[in-house]
Amino acid sequence: MLSRDGEAVVRQHIPRKRFGQNFLNSPGVIRKIVAAIAPRPGDLMVEIGPGLAAMTEPLLEALGHLHVVEIDRDLIAGLRQRFTPEQLTIHEGDALVFDFGAMGADLRVVGNLPYNISTPLLFHLATFADQVRDMHFMLQKEVVDRMVAEPGGGEFGRLSVMLQYRFHMERLFIVPPGAFTPAPKVDSAIVRLIPKAAGELEPCDGEVFARVVTAAFSQRRKMLRNTLRELIDEAALVALGIAPTARAETLGVSDYVRITRALSAD
Ligand code: SAM
Repeated sequence: MLSRDGEAVVRQHIPRKRFGQNFLNSPGVIRKIVAAIAPRPGDLMVEIGPGLAAMTEPLLEALGHLHVVEIDRDLIAGLRQRFTPEQLTIHEGDALVFDFGAMGADLRVVGNLPYNISTPLLFHLATFADQVRDMHFMLQKEVVDRMVAEPGGGEFGRLSVMLQYRFHMERLFIVPPGAFTPAPKVDSAIVRLIPKAAGELEPCDGEVFARVVTAAFSQRRKMLRNTLRELIDEAALVALGIAPTARAETLGVSDYVRITRALSAD
């Protein structure tokens, strides 16, 4: 999959742990990911962390042009050598503060994400959901399992509620450590996020929602009447049909929306 130039860059680059660099090395896995993304000519797509271009190259073959956001200057130098500005628009910087909203509407976002910043990055990306068509990410399998978890289990938490509020999400397939250089210690998985349509969204104040969810899961073994004490009293929870003795993980997204609306109505 890599050109000869590309192979030389792969050999020369020493992976940087602080940038979460685990490079895909398996042509079969790369093909499977790109097939799942299904790039089409004319798609407006941005790849976060192109690295040594393992995914960038096949994406470009299908798209003709791609935006990338990369923080590592050495890798950016390699990308500039291999691709023309007509093929690749390189945004040098930190994806955590990158203004994805400035790229335009119907945006497709992809990336084998640096695992050390995956949660804040997902929250940052969620703020641009209105402009996004879909997102496909490689993440630690454990993080993906938390994203798609159903209420009631130990994996269901703040990440699940905050993202499920805004997106339909699906775990597509698992990728073993051997598909990367260096190999991470854990399994990875590909997840697809599609923003809910306006009609599917349960409108509520986003800031209050985030405050309620964060408080509820701040001590997940405690009852809601304790974790939400500062926000809502027991009688109000009962009036909403929510048991004050319940724990955060037993409530669904709609329950958190109802609590938020009750608070916002004050
Ligand atoms: N896409 C390549 C692949 O699949 O082989 C590299 C994936 S590697 C897991 C993560 C990539 O994200 C690296 O290229 C790393 O330099 C880049 N990266 C790390 N932190 C970043 C940040 N805050 N903003 C943008 N890129 C970042």
